[in-house]
Amino acid sequence: MERLDVLKVYADLHQIPEVAFDEHKTSAYIADALEALGYEVTRNIGGKTSVMGILRGEEPGPVLMMRADMDALPFKNEDGTVEAVHACGHDSHSSMLLAAASELVGKIKKGTLKLIFQAAEENLEGALSVCNAGVVQDVDYCLGVHIRPIQEIPPGTMSGSINHVSSTFMGVRLEGVAAHASRPHLGVNCCEAAAMVVNAITAIKLNPNFTWSAKVTAIRSESAAVNIIPDKGELWLDVRAQNNELMDELIEKIKTAVQCAAAANGAKSEVFFPGAILPASDYDDDLKAELAEEIKKVVGEDKFVPECSAGGEDFHFYKKFNPSMKTAYFGVGVGAAPGLHHRAMSFDPCYLPNGVKVLVAMALRKLG
Ligand SMILES: [Zn+2]
Ligand SMILES: [Zn+2]
Repeated sequence: MERLDVLKVYADLHQIPEVAFDEHKTSAYIADALEALGYEVTRNIGGKTSVMGILRGEEPGPVLMMRADMDALPFKNEDGTVEAVHACGHDSHSSMLLAAASELVGKIKKGTLKLIFQAAEENLEGALSVCNAGVVQDVDYCLGVHIRPIQEIPPGTMSGSINHVSSTFMGVRLEGVAAHASRPHLGVNCCEAAAMVVNAITAIKLNPNFTWSAKVTAIRSESAAVNIIPDKGELWLDVRAQNNELMDELIEKIKTAVQCAAAANGAKSEVFFPGAILPASDYDDDLKAELAEEIKKVVGEDKFVPECSAGGEDFHFYKKFNPSMKTAYFGVGVGAAPGLHHRAMSFDPCYLPNGVKVLVAMALRKLG
């Protein structure tokens, strides 16, 4: 099979958007193409839709993993039906990686090239399902890629590092004592406890040299009638921090603030996490430097943007799972507008070959 054209693959994958863990057509397309190229292919990694392709060199060497995500986002139509749309560009990531895969056939001399086409980035469960399948323990280097929106870097440029923050949701359950509203001294009012908790969280301080935030995004406390002191309450928080150490510190401070504020009001409290804590990026400086060198060869020094920042990415679970792994993650400026996660998001695919070139160059640098 000859080289795959990234624009053709992109056009194909763009036609079959599928949401998290439902990427059956997309993963079959990719797995079939990898098999035709001669890769050793594993389908349904961890019982889900992720696909892995492996090329082995004849000489010993490192294991390089390159990862693209595959899932689209769900959008609600006016009639209530849900439609999958590639509004985060994951079809373009898979296209770049598959096109790079086709160029690397016959060129891997040492070590192992592991290509992961990952399901379900958007619900933050895909990377964990790949980790749990036991395929990343032996990885030495891991590279990720994402297209960038027009607000971040201009089309035609590339960024050598996308700095994702750590983020999570936290829930707080409050338990007070119900009472008649005319005898509030006999009860413990969860609305008042919730107000104390909000104030305590707002008063948390961390090192201002780093970005972080903790905010209450929902408060629920109700009784069947407004003349009853409510005994049950719930708060939700959205919590973010620039690095993983800061996130640990922030979570500890939130737990203390919640417990003390609720207790001051006489209420019992319990903090819980409905999902995982998304790790922040934690890149390797040497790998970043190598990536920067290759990017500059592709787009030139003047179109190289050293760093840009973004929201979260489940890519960083890989390093959390295998801390000795060295990671880096680059961005491809494609002019995506109005913005990622917008239903009408579109961009010019003519910049995708830049991403393919960098992926190929990095693979040859480590394994060629
Ligand atoms: Zn997204
Ligand atoms: Zn994305």
